Order: sequence, then C-alpha cells, then structure tokens
Amino acid sequence: MIQTKGYAAQNEKTPLAPWTFERREVGPHDVQFDITYCGVCHSDLHQIRNEWFPGIFPMVPGHEIVGRVIKVGDHVKNFKVGDIAAVGCMVDSCQECENCKRDLEQYCLQGNSPTYNGLEQDGKTPTYGGYSNTIVVREEFVLHVSEKLNLAAVAPLLCAGITTYSPLRHWKVGKGHKLGVVGLGGLGHMGVKFGVAFGADVTVLSTSPKKEKDAKALGAQHFLVTTDKAQVKAAKNSFDFILDTVSADHDFNLYLDLLKTDGTMICVGVPSKPAEIAAFSIIAGRKSLAGSSIGGIAETQEMLDFCAEHNIVSDIEMIDIKDIQTAYDRMVKGDVRYRFVIDMATLK
Ligand code: NAP
Ligand code: ZN
Repeated sequence: MIQTKGYAAQNEKTPLAPWTFERREVGPHDVQFDITYCGVCHSDLHQIRNEWFPGIFPMVPGHEIVGRVIKVGDHVKNFKVGDIAAVGCMVDSCQECENCKRDLEQYCLQGNSPTYNGLEQDGKTPTYGGYSNTIVVREEFVLHVSEKLNLAAVAPLLCAGITTYSPLRHWKVGKGHKLGVVGLGGLGHMGVKFGVAFGADVTVLSTSPKKEKDAKALGAQHFLVTTDKAQVKAAKNSFDFILDTVSADHDFNLYLDLLKTDGTMICVGVPSKPAEIAAFSIIAGRKSLAGSSIGGIAETQEMLDFCAEHNIVSDIEMIDIKDIQTAYDRMVKGDVRYRFVIDMATLK
C-alpha cells in the first residue's frame, strides 16, 4: 500500500487536520500522480458538514486535482512518468451501462465512484480526495492538461469548469442568447467565462453589489443585484437561460420569473434543503427547470482542450493547507475571488 499524507475531517463537527492513510498500489491500469494543486469547492464544505447526507469519515475532500505522474501500470497507454495529470469529481464507474457507454459516467446507472466521500466500484473501499500528496486512479478517469496553462489555475476547471461548461454545451447556449448566471463564486465565475466564450450576452445576478467590477472584468456585459427589487422587476421576462450556481437556500421562483417564454433555468448549485416551486412560476411562459451534474470524462477532456485553446483558467487565490478553515469561513460569506486553490507543497 502507498502511505499518503492528507487533511481529513474525522467527523462532521471537527475541523480538518493532518491525517495519514493508505492508497492502493498502482495496478496494471492505474496512474499515480503527486498532487501539486487542489481547488476548494463548496461541495467539500457541504460534504464534510453532512449538509447533503451522512458522509463517510474520516473524509479527505478535494476533487479539483492536478499534478505530475510518478508511476504508471503496465497496461497504461496514454500517460507516462512526468506528464501533467488531472482528476475531477469521479475516479471510476461501471463502464458498461447505457450512460457510461454514452460518455455520461457522471450518471452511471450503477453509481459512479466519487473522488471522495464515496466507494470504489468494489462497493466497500472508501475513496479519498485531493487534499493529499498523491493519488492512484484508473487511467480512464485521468485527464490530460496542456503545459501552456497555469497549473494552479487549471485545478478548478476539474469541477467548477466542467460543471458550467457541460450544461451550456448541452443546451447549446451561445450567440443570440441572453444568459443569466446566478451567484458569482467558483462555479459562477467559470459560467461567466464560458458563456462569454460561447458568444452569449451574459448578466451576473448577485447578492453582492461589490462584485460588479469583477463581473465585468470576467467578461459579463451586465450586472444585476438580486436584493434590489427595482432591478429584479426590470429584468422580468428577459433571459433565455439562467444558470443557478447558488450554494445556499434561495427562492427559485424569483429567478424563474426572469426567464422569457420557453426559457430554461439550469440548476447546478446544491443547497441542502429542497426548493419550493410554485407551479405558476413555470406554467406562465412554458418554462423549464432543469439540472446538470458535472460532466463525463470525454467532455471534461474537451473542456480542458477548449480552455488551452482559448487561454481560459480560473481566477484563484492560493492558500496554505493549514489555512483551509479560514478559506471555508470566507466561502460561506460569499467572499471568494473566485476559487481557493491549495498549494500542496504546504502539506508537510
Ligand atoms: P461558492 O464559490 O461558494 O459560490 C456560491 C455563490 O452563491 C456565492 O459566491 C454567492 O454569490 C452565491 N450565494 C451564496 N449564498 C447565497 C444566497 N443565500 N442567495 C443567493 N446567492 C447566494 O460555491 P461553488 O463552489 O461555486 O458551488 C456552488 C454550488 O454548486 C454548491 O452548492 C456546490 O455544492 C454546487 N456544485 C454542484 C455541482 C454539480 O455537479 N451540479 C458541482 C460542483 C458544485 P454572490 O455573492 O454573487 O451572490
Ligand atoms: Zn466541486
């Protein structure tokens, strides 16, 4: 077994602290890479606090992982020692079901193996994430990253990037569409970058008036403060698509009202409580309320290649792993500009 250093939550109440654990030896189809950077997603916080469902503890969070390959199994074809490698929110799936065959491993009918707080496909071995020094993953779930990009700023693409890229591609959002992005955090700021890159007219809908300048710098054409009733009223019936990235409980009806007839609101944020939707919010204007989860492996590679071609990365604030709690506290307050990334060299 491979001795691994990481930061773990021992239960939903304790703060993260150093923890040593074991990863499997590199199998014939596995890639091992040393982690250089790992992004901090709001899902990490939801999960270590049991905000969605009871978690598997000790929990080592982190699913925005990049690093350098140090070992490959005998049958590995696409990676060699020294390559840059990345892993996102999944480390395995059945590879056989209808959805896996359609490159939609995130919707694997047997259940994919999440990078942490989940089980390997054997149904019993817990998975541990990227707040750690090294990781072993089967080749099919390891992504290639261009040497051209700033690696630390690439890390958040593995979750925040693909989670916003995938629905915008699926619903073919682009030229001629008015897109509203709700919540300017990790996911939201990537939603803005992709919306702009795909040619949409992008508005940021935020609770933080202070973020207007940043929103415009990210490429958004417009900014709307959702706590300002007059601004909200003026925006009724104006969006073709709304991408909702909000992590906390909020009123979905307010945003549905802002859609045009036949508009679609796509939820990617996962608040802990179910939302209350008034039927009137969707029947008036034949509106759709939809959702989307991360993206498949092929699409994640497509997104990384698109980012390399168009020079798109995340806007990040690098942190020392010992400051993870401060990063979480700031994240809860919406004070993220726009993704914390852990410099794994600080994990001693
Ligand atoms: P984040 O960086 O904390 O951003 C969330 C943003 O939501 C905040 O910056 C804030 O933006 C806004 N917000 C917070 N509280 C709000 C409230 N009460 N009302 C309205 N807006 C509020 O989080 P993230 O990492 O982007 O993740 C966002 C959500 O997506 C989380 O629930 C996460 O678990 C989920 N997620 C889903 C997937 C998926 O596959 N679907 C993948 C990854 C993450 P403003 O200051 O601009 O208002
Ligand atoms: Zn995430």
